[in-house]
Amino acid sequence: MSFDLASRLAARRAEHLYRHRPLLESPQGPEVVVDGTPLLAFCSNDYLGLASHPEVIRALQQGAEKWGVGGGASHLVIGHSTPHHELEEALAEFTGRPRALLFSTGYMANLAAVTALVGQGDAVLEDRLNHASLLDAGLLSGARFSRYLHNDPASLAGRLDKAEGNTLVVTDGVFSMDGDLADLPALCAQAKRKGAWVMVDDAHGFGPLGAHGGGIVEHYGLGLDEVPVLVGTLGKAFGTAGAFVAGSEELIETLIQFARPYIYTTSQPPAVACATLRSLQLLRTEDWRREHLNNLIARFRRGAAEIGLTLMDSPTPIQPILIGDSERALRLSALLKARGILVGAIRPPTVPAGSARLRVTFSAAHSEAQLERLLQALAECWPTVMEDSHA
Ligand code: PMP
Repeated sequence: MSFDLASRLAARRAEHLYRHRPLLESPQGPEVVVDGTPLLAFCSNDYLGLASHPEVIRALQQGAEKWGVGGGASHLVIGHSTPHHELEEALAEFTGRPRALLFSTGYMANLAAVTALVGQGDAVLEDRLNHASLLDAGLLSGARFSRYLHNDPASLAGRLDKAEGNTLVVTDGVFSMDGDLADLPALCAQAKRKGAWVMVDDAHGFGPLGAHGGGIVEHYGLGLDEVPVLVGTLGKAFGTAGAFVAGSEELIETLIQFARPYIYTTSQPPAVACATLRSLQLLRTEDWRREHLNNLIARFRRGAAEIGLTLMDSPTPIQPILIGDSERALRLSALLKARGILVGAIRPPTVPAGSARLRVTFSAAHSEAQLERLLQALAECWPTVMEDSHA
């Protein structure tokens, strides 16, 4: 017996599913340098253009001067510093919830929340298109794990009827690869019928959605009763790194006491919390970022329809172009790259088989002229890819 890694890797290549890591040689922004080539990028989650904002950078620098670089230890030992605490208070106020708890990554926040809330004898019901970290969390929890049809309250209802023990319904707020919104009012109504709790991971909703960037719960006007467990990540629209869970006093204390991915990991660098405090202010107050973003999204959808592209039912900055075949998706991505435009091809297993796509994302930092360049390039490349009988 040996680990035949070479065959596994060769099979992945043969299926056009091999993943490459583009080397970014510039800061985040619309214009980047990747693998030595200047490109116009439409694939970052920096939706509000805050990742390279001068004031956020300054807050990080000043934070590092004052607090040093490393978090030093876990929050429960000596890693919970004043900037972390202030950020938690600001995030609680922002989300309108009694408390918030900081995590170093969204992946960890999701593992923590699910595994602290359900275990053997309980049930966790997840949308089948949930982010990998939520699915992993459900499996890790030891609770009975079941996936309902995408965004389908009737399918959820069937699963709820069979569930036993404490039952947690888990969904993305904005689905990361499709860009559509969870039908939270209907999903929450089903959960309420059975006394289940709802957990929403709104990694992609905070910032772009809601009148003040409060994400999908602000968009639908839902409170703590409907969504007792709310997760946000800081590496996307906030432009920094880390994540938070917001909820009741008891929920947060439960996570501090029982969530292993919280207890056994080093806190994020305190300077990142300083930077996030600044970006949170910008996210809440600079409404022009959301307005500009929405204009870009509307213009893209009109332009894409004229070209004949297949888009998804998405009102968010995630605007995937559905292609289906992985090799074709790779070819469109390569043709765009040859025209100076970077959009990643997303293939299985990240998305279901036969639904490869180009995941176009927009940022408030994009100009209208840059969007027109994208549309022009798509108009040129799309027919070539579609006409090719090879696919
Ligand atoms: N949830 C969703 C919906 C995500 O898209 C992501 C990241 N892509 C995560 C959680 C994980 O967050 P992080 O990158 O901070 O680990």
